[in-house]
Amino acid sequence: MSPTPATAVGGDVWAGGSVRDGFDHAVVGAGLSGLLLTRALLDRGDEQGGPAPRLLLLDPRTHLPRTTFAYWHCAPTVLDAWAIGSWDSLDVVDVGGRQHRAALGHWRYTAIDWTAARADLLAEVVADGRVTFVPRPVDAIRDGARSAAVRFDDRWTHADWVYDSRVPQPAPSCADLQQSFRGLWVVTDDDCVDVRAATVLDFSADGGSTLGFAYALPVSARSALVMAVRIGRCPDVPDPVPAVRRVVGGRAWRTIMEESGTTGLVSRPSSRRLGRRVLAIGVAGGRVRPSTGYAVTRIIADSDAIAASVQQHGHPFDLPPDPRWMCTLDDIWLRAVASEGAGLEPAFVELFTGAPVESVLRFLEGKARPADLLRVVAALSPGPFVRAALHRTPR
Ligand SMILES: Cc1cc2nc3c(=O)[nH]c(=O)nc-3n(C[C@H](O)[C@H](O)[C@H](O)COP(=O)(O)OP(=O)(O)OC[C@H]3O[C@@H](n4cnc5c(N)ncnc54)[C@H](O)[C@@H]3O)c2cc1C
Repeated sequence: MSPTPATAVGGDVWAGGSVRDGFDHAVVGAGLSGLLLTRALLDRGDEQGGPAPRLLLLDPRTHLPRTTFAYWHCAPTVLDAWAIGSWDSLDVVDVGGRQHRAALGHWRYTAIDWTAARADLLAEVVADGRVTFVPRPVDAIRDGARSAAVRFDDRWTHADWVYDSRVPQPAPSCADLQQSFRGLWVVTDDDCVDVRAATVLDFSADGGSTLGFAYALPVSARSALVMAVRIGRCPDVPDPVPAVRRVVGGRAWRTIMEESGTTGLVSRPSSRRLGRRVLAIGVAGGRVRPSTGYAVTRIIADSDAIAASVQQHGHPFDLPPDPRWMCTLDDIWLRAVASEGAGLEPAFVELFTGAPVESVLRFLEGKARPADLLRVVAALSPGPFVRAALHRTPR
């Protein structure tokens, strides 16, 4: 098989021929989790002194369609450098079109251009002399007592630790909940987009029987990303156009780009430790919060925790488990979404309007204190959640 030509990144990019054997770390997938972990391992290696860690990074992907990620945060993150917008207020729009605006206090909601961030991060880590980048797919991983190995192009390369961000096949089936997105980047000729707040949930523009909403990231007075989202067992691709009309206040607009995708929302605990020397990371490592579909800040924290574990214990497995309350509540939430469908839309609005927003954000980030949990639970009408918890309806 002939090797893929080296991508546009510089540095040590494998272009065929032999690869040294014996790395400290092999990272499978140069997506969000693979790149942040590679960076964290390099940073910890710098701190540690001693022999420089040798890293192997593998990913065949040469082109990433335009992708925007958004996240809540109360401290700066490594991704903020690629921000295209950052807001200190959020809007929630209920089914009747009423807009509720909440100031975020110490928090911000930030959107980044992940396509640009990925290109820059990949170029940065590949330019580091400790990293060998192989633009090929890994087709097998072999665990072992003293090392693990990854296989590409019929050759095995060994590493002390292997991190796998490939999402296991088969992909989530219609037995699991999925979140389907379709978004439009729209521009207008007039200043008509309100940039003071991002819209995190707009229920006014979706009339389906399964749960559906839109969110809007207004990056200038003349442009915004408007994303429609539908959640269900086999959700249709949602239509963002009604939400676009709301964002531009009925003015004329045109689409300049589209974004779309699907994420599985699964609350079953995934086994992260895939062997004595293999760890699942990113989506494959269960880092998508199933009740929200958000993963970015969890992946940032996870990368740091893995690198810290390597530094302190000599292995990557000393990772904090997800809090028990979070797993239990996420499971109930997903069951309620599956059984109530669009009937659960008022609960989302209650969440943002009935509890202090900082409590809600700590809750959504999995960092809730007992008082936050009480406030969040008190804000929600109990009916759908009690039914979901008691009846244990299959998801
Ligand atoms: C459309 C979309 C929008 C999202 N928006 C948000 C958001 O706004 N906020 C948020 O918090 N989360 C969001 N998420 C969820 C999550 O943050 C992303 O899915 C994120 O990309 C997960 O990172 P990852 O490393 O697990 O996967 P990826 O970033 O997809 O990386 C996996 C990498 O593995 C590579 N790969 C696959 N097979 C192989 C192989 N055989 N060998 C080597 N490499 C391989 C792929 O090419 C890919 O680059 C979104 C997800 C999607 C799909």
